[in-house]
Amino acid sequence: MKVTFLGHASFKIEEDEQILYVDPWLTGPTSPITIDDVDKADIVLVTHDHTDHGFVEGKEICKKTGAYFVALNELAHKAGEQGVENIHTLNIGGSVNIGGVTVTLVQAFHSAGTGAPTGFIVRFPSSSFYHPGDTGVFASMSLFSELYSPIDVFLCPIGSYFTQDIHQAELAVKLIKPKNVIPMHYNTFPVIEANPEKFKGMVENSSPDVKVIIIKPGESTEI
Ligand code: ZN
Repeated sequence: MKVTFLGHASFKIEEDEQILYVDPWLTGPTSPITIDDVDKADIVLVTHDHTDHGFVEGKEICKKTGAYFVALNELAHKAGEQGVENIHTLNIGGSVNIGGVTVTLVQAFHSAGTGAPTGFIVRFPSSSFYHPGDTGVFASMSLFSELYSPIDVFLCPIGSYFTQDIHQAELAVKLIKPKNVIPMHYNTFPVIEANPEKFKGMVENSSPDVKVIIIKPGESTEI
């Protein structure tokens, strides 16, 4: 699995010829690419409708590429009404298989203008990742490790103010027990300033089996 950080909470994930975009806020201040740079995509996942999670850009990518737009029922229907052809209108706990990729919608503790905030657990035939959207830590994150263990990559908000901070994120890692963690949702704006190196040190102490991978916008890592 190749994971490319597109800044903030935005990622491009590639596995077995499949190209996924999650929360593609490509007009954001830290995005290394624009919509013009996207010419292929299979699945677009949007966790909630706040501007910094790329609902608008996600729709554009789908219209341009024919990719599936997958989100909570109300949000995916909205994308459909606004011209996206291929949609999957999941709800919490539900899954869909798209070309061998299983996408499961899970809860998040946050807010949303349309429907509710969500996260995604995505399983390829031989790897998996969890993008929690915006959330504070919650106890039922431990169910995800029970159900889907081992999750290969946990994309982990650490910036506080709108989401969990590094201390909550450290506990989230303990509950989810992923193999790898990539910090996100920090340092985009002054209010979400956080130190990923400090978070890395904390996780190395409390979850020594977990690897923390810090990547900058535009950088990729192979897992
Ligand atoms: Zn939000």
